[in-house]
Amino acid sequence: MPLELFNTLSGKNEPLFASDGHALRFYCCGPTVYDYGHIGNFRTFLHVDVLRRAARLNGLALHHVMNITDVDDKIIRNASAAGKPIGEYSARFERAFFEDMDALNIEQPEDIARATENIPGMVSLIERLASEDIAYKAEDGSWYFRIARFPGYGKLSGKDLEGIEDGARVDLDEYEKDSARDFALWKATKPGETSWETPLGPGRPGWHIECSAMAMKYLGNSFDLHAGGEDLMFPHHENEIAQSEAATHEPFARHWFHVRFLLVEGKKMSKSEGNFFTLRDLLLKGYRASAIRFLLLSVPYRHQLNFTFDGLIESTNAVDRLRTFNDRIRKSTWPDTPPTDDSLTSLIRKGDLDFTAALNNDLNTAEARAAIFDVLRAVNTAADQSRLTRFDAEETLALLNKFDSIFAVLEDRDAELTRAALTWAEAEGRMADVSPEVLETFGTGSLTDAGIDALVAERTQAKQQRNFARADAIRNELLEKGILLEDSKEGVRWKRK
Ligand code: AMP
Ligand code: ZN
Repeated sequence: MPLELFNTLSGKNEPLFASDGHALRFYCCGPTVYDYGHIGNFRTFLHVDVLRRAARLNGLALHHVMNITDVDDKIIRNASAAGKPIGEYSARFERAFFEDMDALNIEQPEDIARATENIPGMVSLIERLASEDIAYKAEDGSWYFRIARFPGYGKLSGKDLEGIEDGARVDLDEYEKDSARDFALWKATKPGETSWETPLGPGRPGWHIECSAMAMKYLGNSFDLHAGGEDLMFPHHENEIAQSEAATHEPFARHWFHVRFLLVEGKKMSKSEGNFFTLRDLLLKGYRASAIRFLLLSVPYRHQLNFTFDGLIESTNAVDRLRTFNDRIRKSTWPDTPPTDDSLTSLIRKGDLDFTAALNNDLNTAEARAAIFDVLRAVNTAADQSRLTRFDAEETLALLNKFDSIFAVLEDRDAELTRAALTWAEAEGRMADVSPEVLETFGTGSLTDAGIDALVAERTQAKQQRNFARADAIRNELLEKGILLEDSKEGVRWKRK
């Protein structure tokens, strides 16, 4: 079965294909870089990452574009509060965003498009709409999109447009979700605000126009897929369709992919609830980047995921089990005898088929992950009972490679990433957010004797639990800090190099 995905526009599962016969051309709404990304944002970017990886597994080449919203109401407000130009203010959070994406093993899109570097394309799109009187200029110099002139308005979100008032306007980037109104394409700016001199008059772009202009610049008027979190369906994506299709008279994106919002401890994430977390917050508390990735992918993208700390601990254990298993199969020598146990070979092959079928069924990450754990249990048992042959071990490793081409959690960079978060916390004066365990394990530069003892004890325990991946990671981490371990009959001794 080829990869099928739910299409918000048609309300059905549809096969995913490259309409130009070459590469899957898709666009994902990127971050507004006014602050650090939170784990809700990363749930969306992680599932888009899985979409990329699954498309590749199905033989599709990729042309993925993501925008960076580096001018909007919030950026202007925050930059002015910080007394900085918006470019300087947003560059810092853009850098942090890409560091976080890397920590979560999220692949880079083929093209990154910054709003502030694409103003001329937005202006010409608005001019095109103005030439047909679909865009109009208001008294204050702002330009608006006349939604009554686009009969398809509402087709993505299913909004009923009965009773909308022609000419009722809204000029905020964020506005009430239940009102359909003429929206700002170009905003006249107040004195002192960042603004561009253009044929439309001085001002800055509205949020929606940037995605239409940049998607079409890189991908053409019509392309394969457009992605984002579910909150973007209306008004943002509805407005993107209206602006683009009204200008080109061609269908904009064929397929719309929306990721359901993340809940944290059962509630909508918010600073006032105390359940708002950035990736950095969690790393400083001692949670591992790999476990966060695995947890955020544990529930399929259209289902609600309730992020909890218990879930995060389970996810840490699950990643450890997979790494230990991977090491065990990879590092041991298995007898080169013909498989005696046909049922094991067929079980591994069934795991492979189930894994691919689950992914291809609208990216069912939960079932894909379950298929791998079925194989892990059976192969571990066979290995314990000396029934595992080299042939079956190789089949297993091929499946683990396929699994990791999607989930990307087997390589252990966790200690290195936590250390990078610590360096950041030191530079930003955020050491108060670092948990005592992290401080003890990683120190603030050089390890204390007690910290080394604790790590050595953790390594011994990991070895007893056959968690060799963790044990090796600790040895390497200590080595990097100049600590040598010597295993002896009496136990483990350490010395500084
Ligand atoms: P923003 O930086 O607010 O423009 O958001 C970047 C991306 O994260 C968008 O695709 C949003 O839809 C998505 N997003 C924001 N909050 C959440 C959440 N709680 N759960 C899932 N996705 C989210
Ligand atoms: Zn967008």
